[in-house]
Amino acid sequence: MLFDLQVFLLNLSFVFLLFFIYHKYVEGKINKASNEIVIGVISAISIILCMTFPLSISPGFYFDFRQVPFIIGMLYGGRKVGVSLLIVLLTYRFIMDFGPGFQSSVIIYVLIFIGLCYLFPRFQQATKFKHKLTIAIVANSLSVILLLVVVYFFNVNLTLNAWISLTLFYCLQVIVMFLFILFIERAKAESYMLSELKELEKLKVVSEIAASISHEVRNPLTVTKGFLQLLQDKTITDDKKDFYIRLSLNELERAEVIISDYLTFAKPSLDNVELLELNEELEYVLKIVTPYATMRNITITLSKTKQMFVAGERQKLHQCLINLVKNGIEAMPDKGQITMSLHESNEQAIIAIQDTGIGMSEDQMKRLGTPYYSTKTTGTGLGTMVAYSIIKAMRGEIEVDSKQGVGTCFTIKLPKVNCENKH
Ligand code: ADP
Ligand code: MG
Repeated sequence: MLFDLQVFLLNLSFVFLLFFIYHKYVEGKINKASNEIVIGVISAISIILCMTFPLSISPGFYFDFRQVPFIIGMLYGGRKVGVSLLIVLLTYRFIMDFGPGFQSSVIIYVLIFIGLCYLFPRFQQATKFKHKLTIAIVANSLSVILLLVVVYFFNVNLTLNAWISLTLFYCLQVIVMFLFILFIERAKAESYMLSELKELEKLKVVSEIAASISHEVRNPLTVTKGFLQLLQDKTITDDKKDFYIRLSLNELERAEVIISDYLTFAKPSLDNVELLELNEELEYVLKIVTPYATMRNITITLSKTKQMFVAGERQKLHQCLINLVKNGIEAMPDKGQITMSLHESNEQAIIAIQDTGIGMSEDQMKRLGTPYYSTKTTGTGLGTMVAYSIIKAMRGEIEVDSKQGVGTCFTIKLPKVNCENKH
């Protein structure tokens, strides 16, 4: 082997691991400024790790993958991140004082930095995956060439073997870069598509429920219309008149409440975490889905308990519960019963949604929560996936128990927030 495989793989894993962590847990969840900080810190750690475990090809001459986190960090993070990385890299390089001289490093990385300042806006503006990939590869190839040229001028005494290793290593670096961008961009595209799909799913549920809501609103309107017709009669007593007017107002109020409840559900999510009281939230969900259930001869009951708080996004929790109750309703073609209940166990709030529908087989249960799995002709197969991801984001768990022909029970466990002063 021309160079130490172990150290090579170690370098590779530093680069991949740190960005994997970044992408998996941070990206998209925080705002732009903290995003830059995270990219900067992760790239800096990656650079330091790579420099701490370098490959040696001839005594006193070391090289490593530090260019990859440097370039990636700057392309994704911007100029400010670039400056910080440059400072970190050169300072650490100065402290270690390895290799053919600190000056060559300064020349190489300042030049790479200037080049990246020019490429960064193009990289950010590129919408096509191919363009991003090309820019990153060009940046990387140029910096490799630059490095080899500078090394050539500062280290003419390297052996031929060492030169071959060096060139091979940096060619591999370009491949690593290629894989890296491929990996990040694919993952980004996928998570973007998934969030779009979740939006679409919500729209579908909103429109399906709208049909039943309009139905529900028609009743109070019809009743009010009837009373108004009765009021046209000049001969009725004042008492009767009052009575009709009061009833009409009540009915109109009911219609108003139904519509305004529905509208809050239909509004796009606010994305802020609040303290949620589960009895209240379940009550709200009950109101939203009742018209949908009534249309299909289904009754929904809710058994409440003492106040219980959890932390989460209100609309997301509604969306999750509505998706599950809606599935329950759709699992009962003629008529049936859905029971929502709330209780507490081991510091956890437990919400159970039980239906008396067709149930599922073992196989079906296993596929729950995976996208596009649907047994319905107009199903999207996204409802349970969205519900699962919402509960996961709230650090909770979901369990399913189902028997074909008997019914299904979804159990949601959420970590309770203790707040005595809220009582
Ligand atoms: P969709 O409702 O669009 O089909 P979901 O992700 O909400 O998509 O549900 C996926 C599948 O899981 C459904 O098509 C159905 O077969 C099954 N399922 C979900 N909930 C229940 C339930 N309560 N009873 C029976 N089957 C269910
Ligand atoms: Mg569904």
